[in-house]
Amino acid sequence: MFLRKSALMERRSHENLSRTESKRLVVFGAAGVGKTSIISRLLYNKFTNKYTETVEDYHHREFNVDDRTLRLDIIDTSGAFSFPAMRKLSIATGDIFVLVYAINDEESAEEVIRLRNQIIEEKEKKWPAIIMVANKSDLTDMRQVDKDTIEQFTFQADIAHFETSAKDNENLDQVLKEVLKSAKFPSYVVGTSSLKRQTKITAPKVNPATLHHDDDDDDDDNDDEDDGDDDDDNDDEHDGDDDDDDDDDDDDEDDGDDDDDDDDDVYN
Ligand code: GDP
Ligand code: MG
Repeated sequence: MFLRKSALMERRSHENLSRTESKRLVVFGAAGVGKTSIISRLLYNKFTNKYTETVEDYHHREFNVDDRTLRLDIIDTSGAFSFPAMRKLSIATGDIFVLVYAINDEESAEEVIRLRNQIIEEKEKKWPAIIMVANKSDLTDMRQVDKDTIEQFTFQADIAHFETSAKDNENLDQVLKEVLKSAKFPSYVVGTSSLKRQTKITAPKVNPATLHHDDDDDDDDNDDEDDGDDDDDNDDEHDGDDDDDDDDDDDDEDDGDDDDDDDDDVYN
């Protein structure tokens, strides 16, 4: 009797050990905002200045935490959807959505708000996890999108919002933590974060006209990326560990060791 019980317990624990969950992460946003660069940073810690248009790419990555394995299927979309049906399909099949815009591209911020509304509409009452990412935070001098306006929207909509720079490897660990949180991974994995979990979504309307950054002095000399001053002081509560080597921000796509474990750094 005792033996039978312990054999059963062993089997149960083995089943737990091999428990694999799958989530589909869809990265949406206008063309050129840095979707592919963000994915490349998250998965391979690489960055390139070269721009290659994406048609649609698939990646997958497994995360092992204690007894659990999370398989994350990542869909890198093109941004220029020629077929609305393709977007609809990505929405229908996605579990977690990362919506990317660039702080120097007002149009792209309007696009993520449209995307968010479309996702909510098409998912009906399923409350999908949505994470909004303002990329290219290194281009501070070229900022067009007013951060406060966007954060008013994300606050009301109960959506996590991060300013990132794929180029400088800024804040991307926080995005990954939020993705894992959305996938309901144990909280200790992602560390202590003051971010709210998404519990409900209302649908506040934002007038795209208000997105424009006020004190934009129209300096269109947009080729200098070496601004320096980072005025974005409000993500501080989330960031703690700026993990890993953010120094490979040049043209080397292939500079990496096969850092298959670099995402584990996020947990450290
Ligand atoms: P996608 O079309 O959204 O996938 O955009 P890509 O990832 O292909 O990036 C478009 C261009 O923006 C490329 O030239 C990248 O090098 C550049 N880029 C991406 N992220 C950043 C960033 O954080 N800062 C800057 N300055 N450039 C970036
Ligand atoms: Mg791309």
